[in-house]
Amino acid sequence: MSLLVTGSIALDTVETPLGRADESLGGSAVYFALAASLFTEVRIAGVVGEDFDMSLLEPLQAKRIDTRGVEVRAGSKTFRWHGRYAGAMNEAETVDVQLNVLAERGATIPQAFRDSRIVFLANTHPTLQREFAGQLSAADLIVCDTMNLWIENEPEELRKTLGAVHGLVLNEGEARLLTDKTNLVTAGREILKMGPRFVIIKKGEHGSLLVSQDDLFIMPPYPTEKVVDPTGCGDSFAGGTLGYLAATGAPASRDSLRSAMARGSVVGSLVLESFSVEALSRVTPADVEARLAELREMSRFE
Ligand code: AMP
Repeated sequence: MSLLVTGSIALDTVETPLGRADESLGGSAVYFALAASLFTEVRIAGVVGEDFDMSLLEPLQAKRIDTRGVEVRAGSKTFRWHGRYAGAMNEAETVDVQLNVLAERGATIPQAFRDSRIVFLANTHPTLQREFAGQLSAADLIVCDTMNLWIENEPEELRKTLGAVHGLVLNEGEARLLTDKTNLVTAGREILKMGPRFVIIKKGEHGSLLVSQDDLFIMPPYPTEKVVDPTGCGDSFAGGTLGYLAATGAPASRDSLRSAMARGSVVGSLVLESFSVEALSRVTPADVEARLAELREMSRFE
């Protein structure tokens, strides 16, 4: 099933206790696309400024990701994010964000992408997310992500977007902020009332939680000791999840979502091992299978 991701394509500056990387390739759509490409063909749509070095997209092209939806906008600057992680590195502190091109109109989805059946509206302004969704009438499944910035600054726009999607993926802090509920199961149920049929709450090193009309499921993380830079982990989790769903062609049912989240969990764990997209670009389907087998064994009990 055709899979499209829309979202940010960024130049990220990241600081972690293990080092720092300046203006390297990042962005929600980039991480998602690379992760999903382990399972299926992926299309990416997003906008960069004229300062963007297009050779940075070579790792995506090497994975046969269709980049015809990447628009280079004359006169605009690429989105930049500067984040810092400390301690257990579960959540980034945003040091600086320059929306630049993200504060303008969104990308036009190329005609060749309009028949996409599964769509991930990766993190970007909720109004842009809704504009994308409006151009994608062939989609059976639209899932979005969001973040604190939009929950706090654009609550009404975000509510409208949540009314237009089938699924939401967000982290635990965001789920609490969005619903004003501390308990994550309660928060998940509150989010279902806002529109989505399912919500996946990511809990960093503690895995993830699926809340839907017919399921409540906990997915353990693949426990890794090598945590260099968690940036993109959440987007890669979503990429692994929806990439697997698209590859199997299964509807987003109770069982298929569970299987898909296992793939998301494993891919997320592989991203942590380097700055930027370096580790993710090197991962093979065999690496994913090996970790899946280990994860099954580590979480099996009678
Ligand atoms: P995560 O998977 O949650 O770690 O997302 C990391 C990516 O989100 C980084 O590569 C950033 O470029 C991107 N990002 C951070 N803030 C925003 C924002 N406000 N809008 C869109 N993308 C963002």
